[in-house]
Amino acid sequence: MKFSTRAIHVGQEAEATTGATTVPIYQTSTYTQTAVGKHRGFDYSRTANPTRSALEAQLAALEEAQFCSAFASGMAATSAVIGALSSGDHVVVGEDLYGGTYRVFSKVFARYGIAFDFVDLSDLAVARAALRPNTKMIWAETPTNPLLRLVDIAALAALRPAGAVLVVDNTFATPYFQSPLDLGADVVVHSTTKYIGGHSDAVGGAALTNDPKLAQELKFYQNAAGGVPGPFDAWLVMRGAKTLAVRMREHERNARAIAEFLDGRDDVERVHYPGLAAHSQHDLAQRQMRGFGGMLSLTLRGDAQRASAFAEATKLFSLAESLGGVESLISIPAAMTHGSIPKEERERRGVTDGLVRLSVGLEDVDDLIADLRIALDSTAVAALRS
Ligand SMILES: *Cc1c(COP(=O)(O)O)cnc(C)c1O
Repeated sequence: MKFSTRAIHVGQEAEATTGATTVPIYQTSTYTQTAVGKHRGFDYSRTANPTRSALEAQLAALEEAQFCSAFASGMAATSAVIGALSSGDHVVVGEDLYGGTYRVFSKVFARYGIAFDFVDLSDLAVARAALRPNTKMIWAETPTNPLLRLVDIAALAALRPAGAVLVVDNTFATPYFQSPLDLGADVVVHSTTKYIGGHSDAVGGAALTNDPKLAQELKFYQNAAGGVPGPFDAWLVMRGAKTLAVRMREHERNARAIAEFLDGRDDVERVHYPGLAAHSQHDLAQRQMRGFGGMLSLTLRGDAQRASAFAEATKLFSLAESLGGVESLISIPAAMTHGSIPKEERERRGVTDGLVRLSVGLEDVDDLIADLRIALDSTAVAALRS
């Protein structure tokens, strides 16, 4: 079965007693047993819930993974993956990273004796040099947030030491455009809040793998720590994921047109979009991805104030955190999503105060470009005046 068919059919069989075509929202915490310990695979909804099971089957099919555990958020999924480690273990982390991931690693799990080194994983020599005898995990995002840099998944998988696992946060690319497990990764993590859910109406996460032992640890952690999505949220994410393919094609079409528009403006200093031939890793993007996605970032000529003024001036692009929904969003990562990374550290990584991130939605692209043009023109005048 091809991607769109899997998205709509796997885990989505008609319900047995009524024939309901869509999976019902099993809004129940518990299940009546016919005899002590005798049940149909469901005894308590932290452990398993049929709506969540359907979502897990669907997401596994999309990522072509054998196993999936769904979580209440991307951060809950991330925490579950780290939960497979022990005190004394070391993790090499790509430094251009979702701010919340940086926060939970450096402020929570570091306190439990797990060591994290944040390095530039796009440089394989740097990645290799960061490995230690106790390195048990390499954690990468690609494309990265917010700079849209790439990490070579297959190359990282090849340099992973024995006994260490490679985890890829595939939130930006989605399984429609990138298959990290195929490229050698051991675990894929998603914030399903983003493209997979796709409608900015639910928070969720997932961790997927083909490794039975890792899968068992993730399931154990899911039940033990309990960061599970409720049935309604699981259902919303599942409904969103059915249309992932059509949405991603359109997100990309719009993003590409906007990247080209911005690239052609004299008052835009740089556009970061892997689909542009000028992107320094465009070749790797073509090799490793099936498309370039709907995220891009840019630096404007002028000061950081102009970037903020620009982000406040757009009308269709809402000034908001998050990404991957049908509506277009604009944000200033340094002040918003990446505010938890110390300024010095942020600047060293290229996340300057003037960097603007766009999550290109599914509105008509002519309207989106007009919105950006008006905001650019109005702030250009303001920048000259000040
Ligand atoms: C949003 C996001 C997360 C965290 O997911 P939540 O659902 O917000 O907990 C992790 N990684 C990336 C790349 C994200 O964009």
